[in-house]
Amino acid sequence: MPISPGSCKFCNSSHLIEFTAFERMLGLGDECTYQQCEQCASLQLKEIPQDLSTYYPKEYYSFEPLVRSNSLHIFLKKLRMRALFAGVPIPEPPYAYWLKKLHPRFDDKIADVGCGNGQLLYELYAGGFKDLHGFDPFISRDQQIASGLQLWKKEIGQSSETFDLIMMHHAFEHMANPREVLKACFERLRPGGKLLIRTPIADAAVFKAEKELWVQLDAPRHLVIGSQKGFRLLAETEGFSLDEIEFDSEAFQFMGTELYQRNLPLTQANLANEFTEGEKEEFQKKALQYNLEGKGDQVCFYLSRRD
Ligand SMILES: [Zn+2]
Repeated sequence: MPISPGSCKFCNSSHLIEFTAFERMLGLGDECTYQQCEQCASLQLKEIPQDLSTYYPKEYYSFEPLVRSNSLHIFLKKLRMRALFAGVPIPEPPYAYWLKKLHPRFDDKIADVGCGNGQLLYELYAGGFKDLHGFDPFISRDQQIASGLQLWKKEIGQSSETFDLIMMHHAFEHMANPREVLKACFERLRPGGKLLIRTPIADAAVFKAEKELWVQLDAPRHLVIGSQKGFRLLAETEGFSLDEIEFDSEAFQFMGTELYQRNLPLTQANLANEFTEGEKEEFQKKALQYNLEGKGDQVCFYLSRRD
């Protein structure tokens, strides 16, 4: 395999190994080159296409319309949020595991970077949070969704606000320069403020086994995928402490990768129809096991700003 020019965006090593990948989600088949760092095992797209928008079709999930709750549902969601933080055993919403760990106060200033339509922030608003800001340069315009919930059509680095908590849910890997992203978050966090980054991870067992067929390589949309080693090094260099790494991978890593092995695009219909209910259950069990063993394909990085 050829040694590639350039340097690792996580650890700066110039020992990069190239491999070829193909756009598979939409079935376009466009070829691109990824580089994997020999030092830290992080992944990066070698050359970022001029126009990435052709790889983000209109129906891309994050541009679906926001679903609002009626006043009864808002009332119930507020009760549920309080129960969640009080440790009452209730059916939990999908975001409960990381939110409980972060345990923000209801008046904390919270940013969601790469917020898409703002649905997650809306759920937090419905649950009682009062100072919510979404950032996404790809939304159509600035939008006041509700009192205390604003979406901004810009990067967080262009904001002059300071936050108690900044989160990124599967947005980090779509950004070309991880060091600049972490710098911008550092500058926009109060000292001691928290940063949550949920992202795929290059240490994934599925990537090791299946290489470019790994569904979360997602060529060429995923521009950088850190390893634990590379991410920790970069985050600590940029003034963060990495408090915890939690694996939260799902059956999707096996199902999506299996579709690519069968040379099928990643559609909801294929995910639904290509597998039996029994297979889906087995995949989910395997995902939980992988998470326990620290070899799942995505993580939550819990960070805090030092000083
Ligand atoms: Zn590296």
